[in-house]
Amino acid sequence: MSNKKSASPKAKIVIISGPSGCGKTTLHKALLAEPRFKRKLVKSISATTRPKRPGERHGREYLFLNSEDFQEKIKKGYFFEWQKVFDQYYGTPKKQALALIKKGTNVLLCIDVKGARSVAAEFPQALKIFIKAPSMQILSRRLKSRGSETAESLGLRLKVARRELKEAKHYDHVIVNGDLKKALKRLEQIVCREVLEPAIV
Ligand code: 5GP
Repeated sequence: MSNKKSASPKAKIVIISGPSGCGKTTLHKALLAEPRFKRKLVKSISATTRPKRPGERHGREYLFLNSEDFQEKIKKGYFFEWQKVFDQYYGTPKKQALALIKKGTNVLLCIDVKGARSVAAEFPQALKIFIKAPSMQILSRRLKSRGSETAESLGLRLKVARRELKEAKHYDHVIVNGDLKKALKRLEQIVCREVLEPAIV
C-alpha cells in the first residue's frame, strides 16, 4: 500500500499529536483560524464513536458514528488509519485526505501517536509535531480543571499520557505548551517554514 509516488510533492501531511489535556485542540484551531493558513492547510475530519461533547457538531469536530457503522467502515476500507483510544474508535477517512494531497493541498491530522506512526510509515515526508505540557503535574491539573474527568478517566488519561510522551522523540518537533501564546507562535513558525514556504518556491 504505497501512496508515496502518487502524492503531490508540493502537498504535505502535518500531524499533531500529544497527550489529552496538552492543549493541542486549542492550538490547532488557533492555527487554522490564522488567515495565512486559510485554504493552505485543511484539517481532516476524523470519525469517532465517542459521544459528542457540548458544543461539538457532527461533521465539524468529528463524524460521530455508532460502533456498528464504524466497524462497517473499517471492513469497507474507509479509513486511512484507525485506532482505539480511551476505549473509543477514532479514524481518518481515506478519501478526503488523499484527494486533498493529490490536489496539492496540505492536510492536518490531529491523531494519536499510533495513528501518527502508521501515517508516517506510508508518508515518511509527513511533518510530525508533538505537543506536551511542561510536566505531568501540570497536565494532571489541567485535566482536573476540565471538570469532566472522573477519577478513573483521569487516571487512564495520565497513564496513556506517560506512554505517549515516550513517542515524542520520533517527532520532528516537540512544542512545550506552558504558555499558549508562545506555543502557538512556535507552531505557526514551524508550519510556515516547513509547509507554506516550500510550496511558494
Ligand atoms: P478527543 O476525544 O479528546 O477529541 O481525542 C482523543 C484522542 O484521539 C486524541 O489523542 C486525538 O488526537 C486522537 N484522535 C482523534 N482523531 C483521530 C484519528 O482519526 N485517528 C487516531 N489514530 N487518533 C485520533
